[in-house]
Amino acid sequence: MSAEADLLKRTTDLALEFLDSLPHRRVGPTVPIEELRAALCGPLPEHGEDPLATVERLARAADPGLVGMAGPRYFGFVIGGHLPAALAADWLTSTWDQNATLYVSAPSNSVAEEAAAGWLLEILRLPRAASVGFTTGCMMANFTALAAARHAVLARRGWDVERRGLFGAPEIDVVIGAEAHATIHAALQMLGLGRERVKRVPTDGQGRMEADALRNVLKDCHGPLIVCAQAGNVNTGAFDPLEEIADVVREHEGWLHVDGAFGLWASASPSLAHLTHGAERADSWATDGHKWLNVPYDCGIVIVNDPESHRQAMTIAAPYLVQTEGRERDPFDYVPEFSRRARGFTVWAALRSLGRSGIADLVDRCCALARRFAEILRLEPGVEILNDVVLNQVLVRFHPPGGGDTDAFTREVIARVQEDGTCWLGGTVWHGMAAMRISVSNWSTREEDVEVSAGAILRAARA
Ligand SMILES: *Cc1c(COP(=O)(O)O)cnc(C)c1O
Repeated sequence: MSAEADLLKRTTDLALEFLDSLPHRRVGPTVPIEELRAALCGPLPEHGEDPLATVERLARAADPGLVGMAGPRYFGFVIGGHLPAALAADWLTSTWDQNATLYVSAPSNSVAEEAAAGWLLEILRLPRAASVGFTTGCMMANFTALAAARHAVLARRGWDVERRGLFGAPEIDVVIGAEAHATIHAALQMLGLGRERVKRVPTDGQGRMEADALRNVLKDCHGPLIVCAQAGNVNTGAFDPLEEIADVVREHEGWLHVDGAFGLWASASPSLAHLTHGAERADSWATDGHKWLNVPYDCGIVIVNDPESHRQAMTIAAPYLVQTEGRERDPFDYVPEFSRRARGFTVWAALRSLGRSGIADLVDRCCALARRFAEILRLEPGVEILNDVVLNQVLVRFHPPGGGDTDAFTREVIARVQEDGTCWLGGTVWHGMAAMRISVSNWSTREEDVEVSAGAILRAARA
């Protein structure tokens, strides 16, 4: 066997050892930063070492600081695992090492993206003529969509923002919900639209944008208009009233963008699709592959119902770029990158290995497990579920048994759960209250995982 084959076989074993450990390993890291530094830092050796020794050293050194995110009992942030087919496709993607900039540089990826794009539009119930880009994550999907929006609303006023920039351009009114995700602010900041000059629309008790309040805010907007709505609040999972928002934005001839990093996947489930009604009337959407679709990091998806604006906002021109005349897909036309990973393969494999019904099942199952979490925890005196569990998110608050500071006690319970290691979840501040945030987004989570994890949470609350 060649040395490279030997190395890759041994690496497969290391990967399998990790995967085998996932269902029972401690979910959080096991060592403090000093130990990770001791194992990973130090001077760069003058002479190289054997690749197999390097990889074994890496696996050994990294292991205690690895988080079991890919496993069934990680409920922090909104983080999916990796479906077996998607993980395997990701291995091949690295092995194939395709630079997926142009069709001519990576034809198979270009066509895999084309296929995956069509399937995505179908299952997310979005217009078939929309263009799709595969970004690093939903943050860059939001960025790309808002760049297309910026292009379109200014082009309608005769302004070419890509050539002339924003200096002297008509002022764009950007309207967002009061609970827009932090990455919407970041995207606006990078696009020269300002993180803080936005108009914020108040939200209701579940974090949904109030359509009447939007109407009021738009009364004072007379410039080119971009409105950002949300499908899936990162805390509660709640959906903005998209149908009403679409009506209002249309009346004002604005551009409607929907951030649906995980929530847009509700469209794939017949029993949950009502939550996203109206989303299909937007102009652009951002979602993730690496959250609920359970492909490995990194993978976001941007969709624009105005392919020309999408391309205009992203296109890079250089004499050596042999672009084909629209017959073939050049992936870099739809993302803010140049050299890039061939993300089409993992999405293609994930969608194909699940099929339509498998995707719906994945979404339904996670939501049922989130409800199960709430059901178990709710029975405990002093435990309060703050949100309507409409999707895969649960917000929990813990009142101290003898009375006292609920915020402090809630943080204490979260810290104890993280320390215990049975599962991992984090905290948030929701409408001024400290809360534990549970997100069920992993394909491999089973009811037993929820029961064991809820048990660990209740132990922490009783301790
Ligand atoms: C996670 C998330 C994002 C950002 O997505 P990344 O993939 O982390 O870049 C944006 N919006 C919402 C609602 C999210 O949940």
